[in-house]
Amino acid sequence: MEKKRLNEFLLQLSKSYELIAPVKTDVVRFERVKNPETIHLEKNAYFPLKEYFFKKEEVLFTFTGNKIQETTLSSPKRAFFGIRKCDLNAIHHQDIVFMKDTQDPYYIAQRKNSLLLGYHCPSAPSPYCFCGSLDLIDFFDLMFYDKEDHFLVEVGSEKGKKLAEKYGKLFSPSTRLMTQADKVIPGADRLDKKDISAFYDHKDWKKGADICLSCGACTALCPTCYCFEIHDEVKAENVNKGERKRSWSSCQLQEFTRVAGDHVFREDREERFKHRIYHQLEYFKEKYGVQMCVGCGRCIDGCPTRIDFVDIINKMEHGKEETESKN
Ligand code: SF4
Ligand code: SF4
Repeated sequence: MEKKRLNEFLLQLSKSYELIAPVKTDVVRFERVKNPETIHLEKNAYFPLKEYFFKKEEVLFTFTGNKIQETTLSSPKRAFFGIRKCDLNAIHHQDIVFMKDTQDPYYIAQRKNSLLLGYHCPSAPSPYCFCGSLDLIDFFDLMFYDKEDHFLVEVGSEKGKKLAEKYGKLFSPSTRLMTQADKVIPGADRLDKKDISAFYDHKDWKKGADICLSCGACTALCPTCYCFEIHDEVKAENVNKGERKRSWSSCQLQEFTRVAGDHVFREDREERFKHRIYHQLEYFKEKYGVQMCVGCGRCIDGCPTRIDFVDIINKMEHGKEETESKN
């Protein structure tokens, strides 16, 4: 596709879909776009797309006494343009959690009518990126590769194929096959590939844990984190009537593992800090065969004390994993 055709393509698309793409406001963020000229592709969005599918807060049902009224779910038709490889893989991982492992009707409703149109990073958009150190897959309807005066557009699904056919006038057929070299993102492989299972008691985790504020910003910014809590809200004037709500939570909060009897499973901040990293890099893979982390670097960029777990892991050495961290 010639670059000058992109806006026309997106404008056409916005007649049938809500167009959501990165724009620059205070930060770069995904928003509804009416004018494709405002799309900003130089940097990745500060916030991931997660909230479009797995909402920050949603009403699961309302109740009056023991009568339950189900929430009416809508499924907006949305075309997401400008999604990077990390965020596309994050959607794939959340699909595993909310559409394969369980059938979550709230997530499925938000997700099912979405078109995923990727933008392949010509180079790492942030110094914190490390997607190239992880085994990410191709997961998109269409992927746009930036090639000077044109985009090479790769079809990744039946939906994407139909779309390219429907707007065929805006594309020029190409016989060029995509190669692995096309898919490399320079500067995005800074996490050393190492088996961290032997490092659980390594003293260097303290470098992060000691300055962690347990604020949960890392998990809120993470495109793959999916911890939530459920609570009932009632009004004082009629406590029989109310809403059951689900909202994002965080494994970094001590409250998150507080259970009946006032027992807290991960009382210690270091345990919570390590749990996040091990869930991202190990436990999810043990369960689903793929690492949960997609290497977007947001949890590092957005951490108020700039804890860089990639740097911590890269500097860990065997033989220094003794339990100083427990002292
Ligand atoms: S954002 Fe940083 S300080 Fe806050 S909980 Fe996460 S690692 Fe700790
Ligand atoms: S753990 Fe950090 S780098 Fe990995 S996906 Fe989440 S925010 Fe991105």
